[in-house]
Amino acid sequence: MYLYNSATHKKEEFQTHTPGRVEMYTCGPTVYHFAHIGNLRSYIMEDVLEKFLRYEGYDVNRVMNITDVGHLASDADTGEDKMLKGAKRENKSVMDIAKFYTDAFFDDCAKLNIKTPEVVQPATGLIDEFIKTVSALIDKGYAYLAGGNVYFDTSKLDRYYVFNDHDEEDLAVGVREGVEEDQNKRNKNDFVLWFTKSKFEDQALKWDSPWGVGYPGWHIECSCISMKFNGEYLDLHCGGVDNAFPHHTNEIAQSEAYLGHPWCRQWFHVHHLNTNSGKMSKSKGEFLTVSLLEEKGYDPLAYRFFCLQSHYRKGLVFSWENLDNAAGAYNKLVKRVAALTGTEGGVDEEAAARFKEKFLTQVGNDLNTSMGITCLYDVLKAPVNDATKRAVLASFDSVLSLSLLEKAAALREKEAAQAKSAASAGGFTVQGEGDPAIDALVLQRAEAKKAKNFAEADHIRDELKAQGVEVTDVPGGAVWKRV
Ligand code: AMP
Ligand code: ZN
Repeated sequence: MYLYNSATHKKEEFQTHTPGRVEMYTCGPTVYHFAHIGNLRSYIMEDVLEKFLRYEGYDVNRVMNITDVGHLASDADTGEDKMLKGAKRENKSVMDIAKFYTDAFFDDCAKLNIKTPEVVQPATGLIDEFIKTVSALIDKGYAYLAGGNVYFDTSKLDRYYVFNDHDEEDLAVGVREGVEEDQNKRNKNDFVLWFTKSKFEDQALKWDSPWGVGYPGWHIECSCISMKFNGEYLDLHCGGVDNAFPHHTNEIAQSEAYLGHPWCRQWFHVHHLNTNSGKMSKSKGEFLTVSLLEEKGYDPLAYRFFCLQSHYRKGLVFSWENLDNAAGAYNKLVKRVAALTGTEGGVDEEAAARFKEKFLTQVGNDLNTSMGITCLYDVLKAPVNDATKRAVLASFDSVLSLSLLEKAAALREKEAAQAKSAASAGGFTVQGEGDPAIDALVLQRAEAKKAKNFAEADHIRDELKAQGVEVTDVPGGAVWKRV
């Protein structure tokens, strides 16, 4: 496939260190709060990328960290540890917070059909590895001790700004955010590998180290976790675009300094989900979650569909209206798939191969997921039999993961149940949404009315109302629906 590489600023033919195998790394969530649907946009697009590579025949080893220590409120090593902030907010221990929000993250992923990576490694589980790497960086002359902390010395590198879309001003992070600059740093972009003496006295998680009791900086975890589980040569590193600097820049600096050779070949950055008032962010306090979408009656997969409709390298604006449009289109798509009930003839393998070829080319052009969706519609309207259509749609959906055939089957079942649930007695027919208990109540109400037992009829009506059921009388019977 062809993929834009943010390290070279070019679309390139995707290649791997070992033919046929992809070593893939994804920056995981900082588990101090629920993931918002912006974070999940990144994970959805990375999930499609992984599945597309598998579709192309690659064997993929995907590794993800869970940040449960060391990510400070500002990416430039200032402010409080985000985990500690979460623990204080909820009056719980940091480990409780980490467990709760890690589980919540994977629940959300499951609802969005995001596959769990082969390896998921919490940062707190690999402290020895971080200490080993930091020690090696000091030995190699790339890191120094100052004011009790260990810093990476960025001046020791020939090349630091790999994603240099940034200008110097932007890189003056401390200044930009109005935070006091760390006086221990020799160069303004130096970053902390290990904290010991710091102003975060109440840091909950601390470990012994050659430099005193302390905790790791945020960036070192991703380098170490990837080097341990992906090996020395990483093919593909993913994350949201905000991670490019300083996080990924620092990951490259320390990994290459440690390894002594180039580390990651391909960088994949997903652009942000924004609201009309700007970038969605956890630290702002108010954000949209998958549970909120569900509470409002949206199928999480309608959100996945919404994300796939646009390109990962463009910002995406979230609004309820935009989501409604996507949800409407998704439901219509499922209905069209549900209508593919034809049983005549087998799968036309030649036609299927042609469709797949087109899908590979279209989506393989820098992960063009909206063209992937167009391919679905092309199949639906093609002059081939239903068996072929079902087979090709199932094949594409192994990449897009919209559960099209499963949803279509569920829809057909629901419609069949609705048709079946028409209950009748004494010439009175009840039609509803497939709940025999409600059918029975509606029937009872009709009988009570017929017997002029109005108190009983009203009582049943109230009970139905309490269950959110609306009954409409029609000639020869009644129709009910949930409102
Ligand atoms: P965090 O949990 O803050 O470490 O972020 C998890 C992932 O979500 C990272 O890859 C971020 O780059 C990404 N991310 C953060 N905000 C957004 C957003 N508004 N839209 C898309 N991705 C985001
Ligand atoms: Zn990372």
